[in-house]
Amino acid sequence: MKIVLQNVLWLLFFVAYQYFCLASESVTIGILFNEGSHQSEIALNSTLHKKNTFDQKAFFKSNVLQISNFDSFEASKTLCGMLEADYGIAAVIGLESPTRAILESICNHFEVPYIMTSWRPPTRKQTDTVFNFFPEAELFAQALAEIVKSLQWGSFVIIYETEEGLIRMQEILKLQDYKRNSKQNNILVKQLGPGNDHRSLLKEIKNATENNIILDCKTEHILPILQQAKDQNLLSLHNNYLLTSLDAHTLDYGELDTTANITTIRLFDYNTDDFKNTIRRWELSPFDYYSKRISLEPNQIKTETVLFYDALLHLTDSINDLMYTEKSITPNPINCFEQTKSKNGYIFAAYMKERKPSLSLSGPLKFDDNGNRIHFNIHVVDILDNQVIADWYASNSSLVLRRSSNDTEFAAVANLQKILVNVSSRIGEPYLKYRESEEGKILYGNDRYEGYSMDLIQEVANIIGFRFEFHLAEDKEYGKWDEKKKKWTGLVGDLLERKAQLAVCDLTITHQRREVVDFSMPFMTLGISILYKKEEKKDINMFAFLDPFSVSVWIYTATLYLIISVVLYFISRMTPGDWENPHPCDENPEELENIWDIKNCLWLTLGSIMTQGCDILPKGISSRMAVSMWWFFSLIMTSSYTANLAAFLTKDRMEPTIDGAEALSKQTKIKYGVVDGGSTMAFFRDSNFSTYQRMWTNMLATRPSVFEKNNNDGVKRVQAPKGQYAFLMESTQIEYEIETKCDLKQVGSSLDTKSYGIAMPMNSPYRSAINKAILKLQESGKLNDLKNKWWKEKRKDPSCENFDVEEKSDSAELALANVGGVFFVLGVGIAIAVMLAIFEFLWNVRSVSVEEHLTYWEALKVELKFACNVWITKKRTKPVISESSSSSSHKSDKTDDKSMIHSFLQSAGSFMNLNN
Ligand code: GLU
Repeated sequence: MKIVLQNVLWLLFFVAYQYFCLASESVTIGILFNEGSHQSEIALNSTLHKKNTFDQKAFFKSNVLQISNFDSFEASKTLCGMLEADYGIAAVIGLESPTRAILESICNHFEVPYIMTSWRPPTRKQTDTVFNFFPEAELFAQALAEIVKSLQWGSFVIIYETEEGLIRMQEILKLQDYKRNSKQNNILVKQLGPGNDHRSLLKEIKNATENNIILDCKTEHILPILQQAKDQNLLSLHNNYLLTSLDAHTLDYGELDTTANITTIRLFDYNTDDFKNTIRRWELSPFDYYSKRISLEPNQIKTETVLFYDALLHLTDSINDLMYTEKSITPNPINCFEQTKSKNGYIFAAYMKERKPSLSLSGPLKFDDNGNRIHFNIHVVDILDNQVIADWYASNSSLVLRRSSNDTEFAAVANLQKILVNVSSRIGEPYLKYRESEEGKILYGNDRYEGYSMDLIQEVANIIGFRFEFHLAEDKEYGKWDEKKKKWTGLVGDLLERKAQLAVCDLTITHQRREVVDFSMPFMTLGISILYKKEEKKDINMFAFLDPFSVSVWIYTATLYLIISVVLYFISRMTPGDWENPHPCDENPEELENIWDIKNCLWLTLGSIMTQGCDILPKGISSRMAVSMWWFFSLIMTSSYTANLAAFLTKDRMEPTIDGAEALSKQTKIKYGVVDGGSTMAFFRDSNFSTYQRMWTNMLATRPSVFEKNNNDGVKRVQAPKGQYAFLMESTQIEYEIETKCDLKQVGSSLDTKSYGIAMPMNSPYRSAINKAILKLQESGKLNDLKNKWWKEKRKDPSCENFDVEEKSDSAELALANVGGVFFVLGVGIAIAVMLAIFEFLWNVRSVSVEEHLTYWEALKVELKFACNVWITKKRTKPVISESSSSSSHKSDKTDDKSMIHSFLQSAGSFMNLNN
């Protein structure tokens, strides 16, 4: 019963519908669909139904035909067949088809309004009755270029599929002009090959270390290409894509599971209420009510469908408008083989161009004289968070950003938090070193390393909230352009090859590196300086006065001294001149005396060689001859000794010393070098300053090479005992080295000022978050703490106290230590003399005791008393001995006292210049 009632109601509705239809003028619209026009079909049915039901001026009918996609002749036959119909066709709407050019041309020729909804190349051809609801090609290309500009990509790759795609890229290609000769303008253009496998092309892009890709291809090819890009590691956090397909929003990117930054564009915003309501109406289309339940998701609606709907609406509204103004638009049949043209087509087309549409899903509509759409908006959408980030307005050719820099940063940080961030680094103390494992435990992941870099990233990660893992750059380099391999090495290479999202070590921010990667704000400031070894503290040689002669010379001289003394002794015994009269008054002495005993000979030769002379001299010819030869020998030896002694004592101060780069560059004795491939090397290589140029030329010419693989090797070379080598390295590293290596010092001040920064791929969206984190660490003093920790606290070796107080070793005076030996010899000599004196004294006491028949002790007492009495200058040959030794000694005491008083008075008188 219910079903019968329902059917009766529908019947009544149908009769009423037919009544109104017959009452209005019927107008037929030609529709040329392609294979995938299902959505448009729904839109067509719904729209015509609404128009025919509520706008009662014209009753719209449609002649829907499927057009051939490959055969232009077939397509033209289909169109002609449509135009021939008796009822005539008011206008034709054609969807995207490769044969559209012939259809456009036929309609233009017969002045039948023809409406297109797809991209067509820019044309200057007069097309009076042809419209295109798709944006005008040049404006569209301009919009794309503006969008690419706003993305601020330094360089990018364009991947296009068809030639039409390349035409769309024309304005983007022109972007290269505004920064000529800069690496940042590199635009690589690649065409997708036939087939579905594009891996080789993507690999090429990967090798070109390009992160930014503009992909212009059919919508259905996007996901397979992105999937292949993912296989090539081209779809990670720092990869950026711009998809130029206006239907890219219909795809599900979830299956790619990517953090890459994918940007798409669309002509409409499917999130508006108007859009959603329109789609709801399509779903309720009565024509499909019985056949199938339609379900349309707003985000699945294709651009072609929206444009078709807008075109249909505009067309039907225009026909109704014209009917209200009593203008007939009754179409006439057209025969393609005759010359008859559409009677009203021209007027109708002109009206359509002029008319302002009341509602259009695809935004503002305006056409130029050739039917090109010149007003439209393009929404730029970030796929990850499905947010419109910018809008381009064709009416004033302007791009308006919707997303603030904060939003962008927020999104970037959210992405960073989702992944395990790869941090590329290299071993080099104190930035990163292998952690020593306890009890032979095997360490994994970040536990394997420790150092300043690790702590720094840990602090940054704590602030931003991401997880990270350190890995080492394979080639252990910092990062330089390798001309042979045509690629960047080291940490920079890792970033460009997308092996890492961050790179940290003592990586200097340089102009060349900044061209290919981004740097955070500096976390440490430094400059190039010179590391050199301190002047060696030579072992204090007290006997440096012996140095002028070698040991053998000393031995020969000493031996010669003895021999000559002995020879002189014999000569003087032989020569008659040295036998002298002991009593010169006695002219005929019985005995002659020779004073040249061995003692005197030794004394004479010693006095000569000491340049002191002697109070007795030989008189014999031969002995004089011998002595003069000895004097000659002594003269030469002592002169040589004196000259050599001066040279030896000042020898240390003759060693070359340097006080800076200028001094280093002007000498050749001390070699100097830098780390191979580092920024210090680049500094000297690229410097225009003559001193540094000279140093660079010198370094290149020096053999063996002065370039070291790393700082460690450089430091070892400086420390090497042999060879003089200065290492030009960064001041922070010098500070670290001289903290515990006390034989090293920094020479001179810094040659430049630069900084270390955390590197990341170009245009990394998370850069500003990292900058903020570093600023925070700096302000809280954490960076200083970290430096103290790794430069001072965590050191195995003890710190060199006063390492920065350089010892002044170039003073002119000789220190006591240098001449200490002379004092020593003097001391020892005097000590021996005193001992000899004591011995002589005791010996003499013994003789006295024997001669004077005293006990040894009595004799000693008498002699000692006498010796200690410094006032007595005369001594009896024999001591006066009384009967009792005590009384004798008492007597003697008295005598001594008398003589003491006498002597005292004598000396006082002479002191006062008195004659006694
Ligand atoms: N810090 C330098 C760089 O990043 C390496 C060391 C140096 O060149 O002195 O290249």
